[in-house]
Amino acid sequence: MAMITNIQHFMDGDKAADLPAEAQDLVNFLTAIIEAATLAYDKPMTVSTAGCKNDINGQTCFGNIEVWVDFDTNHIGWECVECGDDGVITDWEYTLWDKRSYTKH
Ligand SMILES: [Zn+2]
Repeated sequence: MAMITNIQHFMDGDKAADLPAEAQDLVNFLTAIIEAATLAYDKPMTVSTAGCKNDINGQTCFGNIEVWVDFDTNHIGWECVECGDDGVITDWEYTLWDKRSYTKH
């Protein structure tokens, strides 16, 4: 089941909100995905620097997270190549982690 995350829910103004450790881990995971996807904005797919940490029957998954931008919705999609955990990130545009270059097209 895909996790849909509006990244604005983890923000306080233009920076990451002060969060409990567990939520902070999730934010670190999601923001690494945003950075990877926006750095490779013009590529069909790339891999996040933060790997999967999904817990499967007590075993931590360390799979690579593939990320991409859906150009119809501008949502960022991600999926673990090992366990298939997946999700969508919305409302990431112009956040700290949006690494798109605005000077060249
Ligand atoms: Zn995984």
